[in-house]
Amino acid sequence: MESGDYGLVRKLCLSRNHLIDSYPSRVKEIRFFATIDRGFRWSPLFLWAGTWVYWLFGNGFTRLPRLLLKRTIQREEEVIDIRNAAGGFEYSDAYLCDNDSRFVFQFVRSAMDRGGIAANYVESLGSRREDGVWRTRARDLSTGHTFEIRAKVLINAAGPFVDELNQLSGEQTEHHHLFSKGIHLIVPQITPNARILTFFADDGRLFFAIPMGARTCIGTTDTRVDSPFTEVIDEDRQFVLDNINKRLRLPQPLTRADIIAERCGVRPLVVKTQGENQSRDWLQLSRKHEIDINRERAHLSIFGGKLTDCVNVGNEVADIVESLGIALPHRRYKWYGEPHRSVREEYLHQAQLMHLDSYTFPGAMESLTSRLWRRYGDKALRLLEDIREDPRQAEVLIQGTEYRRCEIGLAQRQEMIVKLEDFLRRRSKIALVVHRDAIRRAPGLMEACEMLFGAQAQEKFDEYFQELSLMEKAEQPMQQAATGAPCN
Ligand SMILES: Cc1cc2nc3c(=O)[nH]c(=O)nc-3n(C[C@H](O)[C@H](O)[C@H](O)COP(=O)(O)OP(=O)(O)OC[C@H]3O[C@@H](n4cnc5c(N)ncnc54)[C@H](O)[C@@H]3O)c2cc1C
Repeated sequence: MESGDYGLVRKLCLSRNHLIDSYPSRVKEIRFFATIDRGFRWSPLFLWAGTWVYWLFGNGFTRLPRLLLKRTIQREEEVIDIRNAAGGFEYSDAYLCDNDSRFVFQFVRSAMDRGGIAANYVESLGSRREDGVWRTRARDLSTGHTFEIRAKVLINAAGPFVDELNQLSGEQTEHHHLFSKGIHLIVPQITPNARILTFFADDGRLFFAIPMGARTCIGTTDTRVDSPFTEVIDEDRQFVLDNINKRLRLPQPLTRADIIAERCGVRPLVVKTQGENQSRDWLQLSRKHEIDINRERAHLSIFGGKLTDCVNVGNEVADIVESLGIALPHRRYKWYGEPHRSVREEYLHQAQLMHLDSYTFPGAMESLTSRLWRRYGDKALRLLEDIREDPRQAEVLIQGTEYRRCEIGLAQRQEMIVKLEDFLRRRSKIALVVHRDAIRRAPGLMEACEMLFGAQAQEKFDEYFQELSLMEKAEQPMQQAATGAPCN
């Protein structure tokens, strides 16, 4: 809003509402509890007024914003250091209960369940157009085997790699990407309250402490980088630690020894290849998306954007493809979203009949019934069957996590797991919330590998930890942090 992209903010608010509606157990409203430092460029009162505009942009879909006095902040969030605070405000937005990669995978799975074809670990080496057909040279990264894929239309959705792929295909575009690196650190839980502590960091950007079960995820940074290949460096870690320590009153400040895991990514930001937003302030660059279309060659390139907008971008792409004269069957059929209410009712009924929640851990943040539905939707019915046939299927397989034996079986059948990292970091968030040493030692991990990879179990186990060691060698050593808390 601060950069004046009101149209974009409105669109993103509506997209957020649509996602909450479509995925009520996976995308949920959450409160952002913001504390504003004295001397900040806007007063808490002004920002609070801004949250009302934001609320209106979202058609009043969420709970009302609230102005926070210093004493309210202190009463409700003891961990916040209010000595330099001018006041604060609270507003609502949404968050993904699982990690972003699982959410995206569920889209892919959902398309496959309806007849779509998807392949992972297949790389495009570039495409050429011949006789009105695109021919893409592809490489299977597991075997090294190369082959050709033919298509009427080519959609380049390679995120930060869009420009590189376009170069390989000889495509000129109106837009291109600049890269902004963002990192997050995952540390032991800093507050038991399920809301996002929000601050403005020293660089003036929003800075969050996000609840993640027994952990807290802190970030982010916004650093201009030249390449999409990037990693967390000491300067990033220090920025995050300094900023959070400055704003919290913890018994001991957070240090590198508290870091359980790290996340690092680049935001591909769209700019015109020539002109306009080249000169715009870095931190003010828009998060909008652009689709460049080459109608003659039936080629689309997707630049920039936010995950929140995924359904809109998908619909826009489908409209463009249709406008190129390519018929899309079942175009109006809504293929995404959680299963129909009646399926959920049937699931809840069966779960109740078999006393599924008797398997929920005492003190768990979520019942097993809601956990399985959230993660697997209608496939959770199959898990109930597995547990009815063999109650051992409800036992936790990897100690220190909440993963039950039947879930690993389902992951093996349905979740396109090629490497152990796919399971630990992309389909689950185990690697984000359990320290790598604790994962390595976790009883049950090898049995999980056997279920996932059969005869290749040891090889895949070694491959994962060898890759981690190589990364570790390139980094400063990190002390082992608190481990063992169950995660989901
Ligand atoms: C730190 C950070 C915080 C963010 N926070 C938010 C947020 O709060 N809300 C939000 O909505 N968005 C957020 N985003 C943005 C969000 O992650 C991106 O908008 C989203 O990932 C873009 O999706 P995409 O599909 O366009 O690109 P990507 O997710 O990057 O996907 C591109 C895919 O193309 C594949 N690919 C690349 N090259 C090739 C090739 N040659 N052959 C085959 N495949 C290839 C890649 O492997 C990748 O899977 C954040 C991003 C970062 C970095």
